[in-house]
Amino acid sequence: MTGPKSAVHSAAQGLQEEMRAWRRHLHARPEVAFEEHETSDFIAAQLERLGAFQLRRGVGGTGVVADLRRGAGPLVALRADMDALPIEERSGVAFPSQHPGRMHACGHDGHMAMLLGAADILTQLFAEGSLAGGVRLIFQPAEEAADAQGRTGAARMLEEGVLEGVSLALALHVNPYEPTGVVQLADGYAMASVDTFEGVIVGRGGHGAYPDLAVDPIWLLAPVLTALHGIVSRRVSPLETAVVTVGRVAGGTAPNVIPAEVTLEGTMRAYDPRIRALLETEVERAFSLVRSLGGDYRLRFIHESPALRNAPDVNRLYVQALSALPKETRIHLAPFGLGGEDFAFIAEAVPAAMAFLGCRPEGRPPAGLHTPEFDLDERCLPIGAALLAESARQVLTGEFPLPSGPRGGAVSHA
Ligand SMILES: [Zn+2]
Ligand SMILES: [Zn+2]
Repeated sequence: MTGPKSAVHSAAQGLQEEMRAWRRHLHARPEVAFEEHETSDFIAAQLERLGAFQLRRGVGGTGVVADLRRGAGPLVALRADMDALPIEERSGVAFPSQHPGRMHACGHDGHMAMLLGAADILTQLFAEGSLAGGVRLIFQPAEEAADAQGRTGAARMLEEGVLEGVSLALALHVNPYEPTGVVQLADGYAMASVDTFEGVIVGRGGHGAYPDLAVDPIWLLAPVLTALHGIVSRRVSPLETAVVTVGRVAGGTAPNVIPAEVTLEGTMRAYDPRIRALLETEVERAFSLVRSLGGDYRLRFIHESPALRNAPDVNRLYVQALSALPKETRIHLAPFGLGGEDFAFIAEAVPAAMAFLGCRPEGRPPAGLHTPEFDLDERCLPIGAALLAESARQVLTGEFPLPSGPRGGAVSHA
């Protein structure tokens, strides 16, 4: 593949059937966070078949890290996540989940198939001797859930040194909100920080007919809810990006009994770390209202992941790689939203960017990520594999010069 640059495109097209088969194999065998054992075995077997990568297994749990190096040069990390979700599939595909209550509803089956495709293409490119440096494939477990210490798969892999020596990192996420062929990029913030709050409003239980002798936490709930829902509109600048959602309220056992406590849980999302901190302060203030009415509260925050901040230099690499591929893609510049992605931990540590690949199937109603109806248009698979392989190729040939430092140095962080 030393011919025209679109040789990467042709190679990706040639792998289309295999990628489809890999994706369907994985789709039918979804495993949730920290349980990706079969998935890990499958990935390792496919990489061993290529015969070029040095594998490390069991990184961050069930993760697979695969290195391929020739000579001195930058080290490009390519990341795919591996886990499924606790969802009962209703997508109607011909290769549905064989694991009850488990489903690849976030497209991570597609991410793995695309990275395996890129691995195949890069193996061929390295064999031709056209690349100098290395690639590191990071198959990451547990993107969707944290362990007992609050660490998701990316955080755990980082603790095990998965980014040592890495010059820059690339990742893709499928995007069912855009048609196949659209590649969505955003410089800077593209996905939000994720924090959970778990609160308990503490009153004093009693008889429903004698409320004056009790401190009713259901009554105390009302001002707290109003204050929580006012945080984004009244306490955060309209120029900033934030969400506070209360997703769970629980309290009471009978119509005529005033309970002692009401539980209130929710999620907080933001782009800017200052806003992230502000939301926490304001949630605390909202709960503290109950004290002026004779109640009390307990409140705990769980910090999950920072906001995903894409490095503009790495997005320039994506744009340059796309321009070297046939014009089957269109770039759409916009942040992805207020969802979370633990690739954010990787993007904090090295220059990195996530590209969002349109994958909306034609001829069926749109279904979002994390829904039982989710499906992806498999024509996105060769596009993603080509984008990853071509981006790595351009760095390892020097066609995309790393902006600062010699080859092997780092591009600047946004
Ligand atoms: Zn997800
Ligand atoms: Zn995902």
